[in-house]
Order: sequence, then C-alpha cells, then structure tokens
Amino acid sequence: MSNDLPFIPHGRHFIAGERIEGQTHFQSAPADGPAHTFSVGTPALVEDACQAAEEAFRSFGHSWREDRAVFLETIVEEIEARAESITEIGTQETGLPATRLVGERGRTVTQLQLFADHIRRGDYLDRRHDPSQPERKPAPRPDLRVMQRPIGPVAVFGASNFPLAFSVAGGDTASALAAGCPVVVKGHSAHPGTSEIVAEAIFAAVRRCGLHPGVFSLIQGGRRDVGTALVQHPLIRAVGFTGSISGGRALFDLCAARRDPIPFFGELGSVNPMFLLPGALAERGEAIGAGWAASLTMGAGQFCTNPGIAVVMRGPDGEAFVEAARRELGKIESQVMLTEGIASAYRAGRDRIAAGTGVRSLLTSTCDLRNTAPDLLQVSAQDWFRDEALAEEAFGPLGLVVTVDSLDEMRDVARSLQGQLTATIHMEEVDSKPVRELLPILERKAGRVLANGFPTGVEVCDAMVHGGPYPASTNFGATSVGTLSIRRWLRPVCYQDMPDSVLPRDLL
Ligand code: NAP
Repeated sequence: MSNDLPFIPHGRHFIAGERIEGQTHFQSAPADGPAHTFSVGTPALVEDACQAAEEAFRSFGHSWREDRAVFLETIVEEIEARAESITEIGTQETGLPATRLVGERGRTVTQLQLFADHIRRGDYLDRRHDPSQPERKPAPRPDLRVMQRPIGPVAVFGASNFPLAFSVAGGDTASALAAGCPVVVKGHSAHPGTSEIVAEAIFAAVRRCGLHPGVFSLIQGGRRDVGTALVQHPLIRAVGFTGSISGGRALFDLCAARRDPIPFFGELGSVNPMFLLPGALAERGEAIGAGWAASLTMGAGQFCTNPGIAVVMRGPDGEAFVEAARRELGKIESQVMLTEGIASAYRAGRDRIAAGTGVRSLLTSTCDLRNTAPDLLQVSAQDWFRDEALAEEAFGPLGLVVTVDSLDEMRDVARSLQGQLTATIHMEEVDSKPVRELLPILERKAGRVLANGFPTGVEVCDAMVHGGPYPASTNFGATSVGTLSIRRWLRPVCYQDMPDSVLPRDLL
C-alpha cells in the first residue's frame, strides 16, 4: 500500500515536460472537500503542445514496441505509487464512492498492461507480404509488404463520467501511446485535480523512460476555444472523445470541415435498450426487474451503457417486471451526480420525457442541485412511435418502459431506434424463434448485443466492442474499449520493392 497523501494540486498545465502556470484561473467544484485553483487553457498552449507532439513523433513514432510496452508499464507503476491520492481527490471531485475510484484505477492500469502485452505480441501490426514474382506474365509482380503505422499526434478529451478509465491515462491515451502516437489531452473541468495527479504519473514515466517530453501534454479545461483549437490544429491527426451529442457533434463537424479532414472518434449518446421476450418474462420477470434497477442506478446512472429503455409485452408478466423494478428503484436513495450541470441536464431530460404524450410516471424523484434519485416512466409503443424525443438519452438513473402488444410491435420498436452502444435480449429456450427474428435488427443498431445480462460493466479485452452506429459513436467501424481500439490510431502503409535495410524494424 502506498502512502502518498496528502496531495495538493499545483493547478498548472503539463506542456511537453514543463508545468505551465496560466494567466487566468478557475476554481474546481468538488462534491466535497476543498476547492482548488487551476490554470485555464488557451489556444496558445494548444499550439505549444501540438508542436512538441509532432517533434516527439519523429522518435516515438519509430520507437521499438518493446520500449513503448515498458513505457506503459512504467505509467502503471507511477499511477499505483499515487493510488491513495488519486482515490482521495477523485472522490472529492466526482462525488463517486472510494470503491468506484479504486475499481476504476484497477481498470485503468489493467488497460495499460493489456496494451503493453498487445503490442508485444505484434499481431496488431497486421503484417502481410506478397513476394515479388519477376517471371510472372504478362507483367512481373513487385515485392509488396504492408503493416499498420501510427498516424501522428492525437487529441484526447477526458470524459466527465470516468475520471480515470476514460480520461488522462484512460483507454484513448493508452491505445494511442501503444500505437506510437503522442497525445495531447484536454482535461475535463469536472475533475482537474484527478487529471493533474494522473498527468504527474505519465510525466514521471516519460522522464524515467527517457522519451521526448512532447509525447504527452495535458491542457486543463475552462474554455471552449481550447477544444475547438485542438481539433482544428493542423498537426493533430485524429481525436478521441466521450461526452454529449451536442458537444461531440460540434467537434466532429469541425474535424470534417478542416482543409484536411481528420477522423473524430466520438462516443456520444446511447439508451441501451433491453428487450424482454415472453418466455424470459414469464420465467423470471421479477428478477430481471430487480437486476435492471441495480444496473440503472449504478454510478447514479452516469454510464454510457446505462440500460435506459426496457421493451416488454403487455400483460401480467410485464406488470410483475415493472412492479419489481419500481419496488427496487424506490429503495435507492438520492445519489450525487458528477456536476451540477449534469444533474440539471438530467432533470431537464427527465421532465422532457415525462411530458411526452401518453407517458406515465411510476416513480418520480425529488432532486436538487447535484443530487438525484431514480425515475421510472412508462409509455405504450404506439405513443413511442409518435415522439422521437422519447428515444433520446437522459443521462442519469432514468428507466422508460415501452409496452408492446405483440412481437411484431417489439421488432418495430427495435427498427425505430437510433444507433446504440448495446442492445440486450432477455430470453429463454422457448424464445429462440423470436430471438432469431430480433437479432438481425439489433445487429444493425448496436456495437454489442447481450443475452440475459446487463450492459453496465464493459470488459476490457480483445473481443470487446464499445461503439456502434451514430449517435452511439461517430465512427461505426471503431471501438473505444478493448485492444481493437488501437486501430483508430493506425493506418496501413504498403512498401513496394523497399530494401530490407531501410524497412521499419517491425516489418522484418
Ligand atoms: P460535454 O459537454 O460534451 O463535454 C465534453 C468535453 O468536450 C469537455 O471537455 C468540453 O469542454 C468539450 N466540449 C463540449 N462541447 C464543446 C464545444 N462545442 N466546443 C469545444 N469543446 C466542447 O460532456 P460532459 O461535460 O461530460 O457532460 C455533459 C453531458 O454529456 C451529460 O449530461 C451527458 O448527457 C453527456 N455525456 C454522455 C456520456 C456518454 O458516455 N454517452 C458520457 C459523459 C457525458 P468544457 O468542459 O470546457 O465545456
């Protein structure tokens, strides 16, 4: 166990090996504990960080992958050396419980280690070789070799809802560094102290490994023009983002409107529908209702994979499911949300959905400032079809039951959905036929389709997909969790008739 307390943030940016004091400042707004003063980011700092990242790419982009694996493992050591301080400042800033911060730190270091192991194996390079055929008629074939190469400096936006695993040293940063791409992080202003201490850990690892300091920079939040300058900077080659549909869409459009458009890998909104088939509903409707309530309220519902919608058949089994969910949700006390802004956006979203035609409130929370308790609403499929806004995410612990009269109507609800990170089917053996009819629809809607589970809790592994059609993500070919996420920061380069003596070491 480390003993790294107390941690008092210095409030500066990290630009290419220097801690830089800003000219203006903002105060953090922790859920509890003292507020601290942080430097506000500026476009001038974006310029400095991007120039340094490009310089760093000249060496880092050609570094041996074993060296990068050691770098990732050194970041793990430096994060673990600050473990207690990370938990303390993280819980203060986010209002999340200490157990969550400890668990998220575990996930963050596991992720870094996973990428270290992944690049050591080398299969991510996807090397292919078509040897020359000088005698081929009518024309000889040249020698052709291809492999994945890093794209250059990458911008990462820290997410508000995962202060560690989707922030400064989270999955976007880990996968980009593993690929050989320097990273410029725009920290989220909801947890600047947590960002700072994790940046200190990366900073220390950069020094210990003797890397170019431009490999990593952190610009603290506070101003919108930092984000816009970052995605428009000519040296930035791609962007990783987790956040709102409106913010993500604005940044995505800026990337597309550049003189040289770049990919924007945004993970935006998802309501993660669950479909309860009649066999499952009859067999264990109440248990599914209780499980749903637990999944829906985990972390005050602030998970991108929160299962916000349950589609159920009308009838006594459906009512038993709803009643069990209502009973369990009613036991959940008010929870602290990540920021006052997110709490007020939740209340506005809840009120918007509750005001929809035919929507009934089964459980209404009272919430104020940064706190909220769960809400449960119900609507018929016919009213759902009439109001597209009912399918929009209310980021927080809100469940909406959509009642259908037939399996045909259930499939129509599935067809009406926008892109999702996940879709879940609750089924028994007797439901096999309707499942076979539902699955092809859901495959086109979601990045991950689950049977008999709950989508919160995203495994970090080789086979994970955390993405999906828009608006779940802005690039349906990509995932932001798991080893496949490294593909976002790579592109294939073909070497034709290139002598071995000059080829990249990885290709030989
Ligand atoms: P956000 O408002 O989209 O902000 C995310 C990041 O993008 C922040 O760094 C923000 O900078 C920046 N940004 C947003 N709009 C921008 C713009 N127009 N130009 C330049 N930069 C911009 O998301 P959030 O603060 O994390 O949470 C707000 C809402 O997002 C939540 O209520 C929820 O609806 C949604 N959300 C969804 C997920 C998900 O996984 N689906 C996760 C988190 C949040 P500033 O901090 O400087 O504003």
